[in-house]
Amino acid sequence: MDKPVMEVAIVGAGLGGLALAAGLHSRGIQAHVFEKSPNLIADTATAVSLGPNASRALDGIIVGLSAAIKSVASLTKTTKATLCGSRNGAGDKTLVTSYGKDELYVVKWRSARSILASRVPARYIHCSHVLLDYFLDDQSVALRFQCGGEATIIRAKFVVGADGINSAVRRAMYPADRPRDLHLINWNALVHNPGRFSVHDRDQIALIRSGPSLCYLVDAGEDYTLWVFRVEDRSTAKESSGGFCDESGKARVLEEIDKLLGSSPAWEPLKIAVEATEAGQIFQRRIKDRIPLESWSNLDQRVVLMGDAAHAMHWGPAQGARTAFEDAHQLCELLSPALAAGNPEDLKRAVMR
Ligand SMILES: Cc1cc2nc3c(=O)[nH]c(=O)nc-3n(C[C@H](O)[C@H](O)[C@H](O)COP(=O)(O)OP(=O)(O)OC[C@H]3O[C@@H](n4cnc5c(N)ncnc54)[C@H](O)[C@@H]3O)c2cc1C
Repeated sequence: MDKPVMEVAIVGAGLGGLALAAGLHSRGIQAHVFEKSPNLIADTATAVSLGPNASRALDGIIVGLSAAIKSVASLTKTTKATLCGSRNGAGDKTLVTSYGKDELYVVKWRSARSILASRVPARYIHCSHVLLDYFLDDQSVALRFQCGGEATIIRAKFVVGADGINSAVRRAMYPADRPRDLHLINWNALVHNPGRFSVHDRDQIALIRSGPSLCYLVDAGEDYTLWVFRVEDRSTAKESSGGFCDESGKARVLEEIDKLLGSSPAWEPLKIAVEATEAGQIFQRRIKDRIPLESWSNLDQRVVLMGDAAHAMHWGPAQGARTAFEDAHQLCELLSPALAAGNPEDLKRAVMR
């Protein structure tokens, strides 16, 4: 027997997809979320900083959502940036920037995801569903998933692709389009650090830079320190989504730091943090972005992209999660009345806006 056609299917239970699902449910729209991971506890050792635009968007999605996320985040007041100049640190320049009234919070990606997931009824979140592609028929969008060892088709009237930088929804919409490699390799880790070592002030981001090499260390809340380190890498190694390092991966990170320490002692705090990190907690990936699209929806407005699937960007400006929340907020506001009215033309107009 054919499965019933659902109203809304969201592909990807990351920050954007869950924020949208939470907002739609709070407005009485029953949106289903399909996630490729077997559960929502998987981690990528990342924390994200959230500025005022993220807080505004989160509270637009559900009043009080930003306070819930801030309750497990750390408040950051300043950034201390050290720009390495010449040998032995003699030419290093240090600049401290204060955020003033513009609050900046840092939260573990996984903690933010748990809080968002807790706002969506569990029966609407379907893990172990890997989207392969979709096709359109008169009545619905048919989503083809790999689910365990089997392929299954789920039909929805409206689909949101929130499946991140390697989006399968985007690939089905624009088959030739691929993420762009920015020739940078990045390592990051969250180290449980209840007073074990001190490499930054509690409410300060410590940033160190030398040409394309950059690191930052910051309190990520819940007694965790986040370190992020990247260097230029022009190799053509194929590495699509990254993963946790083994001992040789950790040795490579320390080797890269030692090269930088040869020109400035400013890199010492990073070395302390990396040495205190178990190899299996260091996540390695290449930095990629997406070339802007002319449209984030398909031609008849039944499939729309959001978050990294729509506009993945270099994470230097720290706006990826923030703009995913802004997308979720706008989609909640525009789609909810159109979905509640059940008029396909209203929905198309909402997507166009
Ligand atoms: C080291 C690092 C630091 C960062 N720092 C910041 C920061 O300070 N501030 C900031 O705002 N942003 C930051 N970002 C970026 C931010 O993490 C992303 O922009 C944000 O998570 C994007 O949200 P999303 O929901 O679009 O995608 P994601 O959070 O990536 O979620 C996508 C989801 O889709 C699932 N999925 C993927 N493919 C499929 C498929 N085929 N079928 C089903 N499910 C699928 C994935 O498993 C995942 O759960 C940082 C990123 C990194 C890596």
